[in-house]
Amino acid sequence: MKTIRIIKGDITQVAVDAIVNAANTSLLGGGGVDGAIHRKGGAEILEECQKIRAKQGGCGVGEAVVTTAGNLPAQYVIHTVGPTWRKGENNEAILLENAYRNSFKLAESLQLKTVAFPNISTGVYRFPKQAAAQVALRTICEELNKGQSVQEVIFVCFDDENLKIYQEIKADFLSQDIEIM
Ligand code: ADP
Repeated sequence: MKTIRIIKGDITQVAVDAIVNAANTSLLGGGGVDGAIHRKGGAEILEECQKIRAKQGGCGVGEAVVTTAGNLPAQYVIHTVGPTWRKGENNEAILLENAYRNSFKLAESLQLKTVAFPNISTGVYRFPKQAAAQVALRTICEELNKGQSVQEVIFVCFDDENLKIYQEIKADFLSQDIEIM
């Protein structure tokens, strides 16, 4: 039985194999959760991001790359880039799905067991929270069912609004193979 856990908190304090960062395409840090991760994780994370930039020029929307987690309690940071909401007319839902899916697949390829996600794109990028939560839960349930390695995904909600939405819709995603708590 695999597990999805919905909690309220600060993702920089979560001790899992990997936390996911809602980064931007530059990988050079920004505000919101990205700023918090770089601030608390230390310079090592940015150094590895700069190496990735030198090699492949950043990270595309919906893609994911991995670095050390520096001083954070996690082992790795998986940096993904969610879409900026532009009236929903620019493939935003697909791009958000890709961000969750590619982050999960990267965790699988590293043979990780536990991964924590923030509510990607629902801050500065203004993706409507309810729709974003649907995409997040649907995509992660699909991937947990297909995957081998990852046993537990934690959705770390930073604001009460996201927490309430996840709590409200989780019943729609219950199955025999995944418990949602
Ligand atoms: P984006 O640009 O993808 O919208 P933001 O960082 O602005 O990224 O917001 C994404 C989500 O991360 C928002 O729901 C925001 O409330 C949340 N967030 C901000 N700081 C933290 C944190 N320390 N831990 C977890 N989530 C956070």
